[in-house]
Amino acid sequence: MFMSHQPVIDGFEFASAGAAQQGAWPLSGFARLRELLASDAGEVGYALQGTRDARGRPSLRVSVSGTLQLRCQRCLEPMPFKVQAEELLVLAATQSEIDAEPADASVPDRVVAGKEMAVRELIEDQLILELPYAPRHEFCNGLETEADASISPFAGLRGLIQRKQ
Ligand SMILES: [Zn+2]
Repeated sequence: MFMSHQPVIDGFEFASAGAAQQGAWPLSGFARLRELLASDAGEVGYALQGTRDARGRPSLRVSVSGTLQLRCQRCLEPMPFKVQAEELLVLAATQSEIDAEPADASVPDRVVAGKEMAVRELIEDQLILELPYAPRHEFCNGLETEADASISPFAGLRGLIQRKQ
């Protein structure tokens, strides 16, 4: 069953029906995520699939893909960061149901299902989870240029000194 684009979904209904929804979302629409970006131009692709986990519990599979412009923590210039992620969220009726489960890294993530779950929030949470803590270029262009500029005058000076001796 393929649903047309909806801003909100009924979690349990969507999961039980095996519904699916996909599209592209502008980065400027993510209030929390855009704070972490060097630019909120462009969009990310997403897909939402209603399913069940290995134990038969109603779940949502959230997929995101796109390129985010992060800010390099070393040179502060924009840094493209590719995101391609998929996560299974097992629905819970209440928060206490989630709290009652033993904390274990191997169990899937849980989320409280609502009658009106914001699709944007599901995508945004998934994107934020993927962000590196301190993004850095492998090679910062700014720093490389600076290093080159400082090496050449000294190299020239050393050359002069050697000629004098
Ligand atoms: Zn950098």
